[in-house]
Amino acid sequence: MTDRYDPLTGERLLETVRRALAHIPFYANYPAPSGDAWFEALPVLRREDLTGVAPTRWLHPDLDLAAELARGTLRPLTTSGSTDEPLKVYADTALSLPPNVWSMHGLPDDAKLVNLTAPVCLGSSCPGDVAPHGARGLLLTFRAGLFTASDVSIARAVTAWNAFAPRIAFVNPAWLHWLHRRARGLGLTMRPPELLCLTYQYPSVCQRRALKAAFPVPQVEFYGASEFGGTDLAIGCDQGHLHLVEYQAYVEALPSEHAGHDELVFTTPVSRAMPLVRYTPGDLGRVTRVEEDACALWDVPVVELHGRLREVMHSTTQVVTTRAFDDAVGAVPGLEFYGARSRQGALTMQVIVAPGQDAAVTSALQACAKALGFSSLAVQVVEQLELGASGKLQLTGEDERHALETR
Ligand SMILES: [Zn+2]
Repeated sequence: MTDRYDPLTGERLLETVRRALAHIPFYANYPAPSGDAWFEALPVLRREDLTGVAPTRWLHPDLDLAAELARGTLRPLTTSGSTDEPLKVYADTALSLPPNVWSMHGLPDDAKLVNLTAPVCLGSSCPGDVAPHGARGLLLTFRAGLFTASDVSIARAVTAWNAFAPRIAFVNPAWLHWLHRRARGLGLTMRPPELLCLTYQYPSVCQRRALKAAFPVPQVEFYGASEFGGTDLAIGCDQGHLHLVEYQAYVEALPSEHAGHDELVFTTPVSRAMPLVRYTPGDLGRVTRVEEDACALWDVPVVELHGRLREVMHSTTQVVTTRAFDDAVGAVPGLEFYGARSRQGALTMQVIVAPGQDAAVTSALQACAKALGFSSLAVQVVEQLELGASGKLQLTGEDERHALETR
């Protein structure tokens, strides 16, 4: 692995992986490192390998869980579990973003930051819909649901946002888009932050476009997963790329069950509580590089996300990833939110559109569906969409059980 990785980082990574394998009970049955390709020979871990495993099996025998929890250096976290049983992990609060992340965007490390996302992603640290978070943070959510939030809840969230005056907004893109749309409907204005960080779910072109218009500030993506216990896997640069956080994550793109589509596999040996070796969060993607001097992090690999493996669709001609589908329909003017499900090559979509755009959007979507090889498309214009159990807007998916009603 060192030949395609910075040798120093590679050595440090291999050393920490060796230590994890030697001491963490979960890895007791792993083969001992031996030969040149020992790392590549290790099994790839999936979520189902983690469920049902006692969290203590992840801990280094020298770690005192009770003491760490009391001190707050480890924090219990439950993964959102959109379709699976939620997973309890321990976040390592000593891990943090690289110190220069915010300065890359012209912001100090202590700039005020608002989080807006589903309650399950904020966890117990957000007891209500609005909660302070440390000295410089604000947590915002809608416990009653995003699309069903009342006018009063929307107004309260906007008031809290404006009073707090965040410089950084760390948000689920669908949640912020909806909050802004509803606020505008109520005649309320939201104070723009200085940097918009889109995270928690795949950011649709529709949401990125709407948020660009709503908040004309730099927009970057951040990528992580609860299973990694607080480790950030990839961070947005000032040019909008998503760069691997090299000193705490190693990435491999390995062939998935769909030919031509790779699955991202991460190793995060820095987390003391849960050092994951070759774990896949279930996302498809690619690892690329940008041109020399393209940005401040040009020599760091770029992670390109294509959506979740389990959310791919099959048209009559191809496997359609969330990214491929979103890139196609995202260009349709007037489309604001959508959920698409395929069934045996036929497609159904529920959509929220800009006022008066029903017919134009429906007809443009028909052309997109045809170009992607779907045998038919039924479009239903709705007022609200259903969110997954994790509070995320599931953009795409194969649906054998719930074929949507045609309009
Ligand atoms: Zn970059």
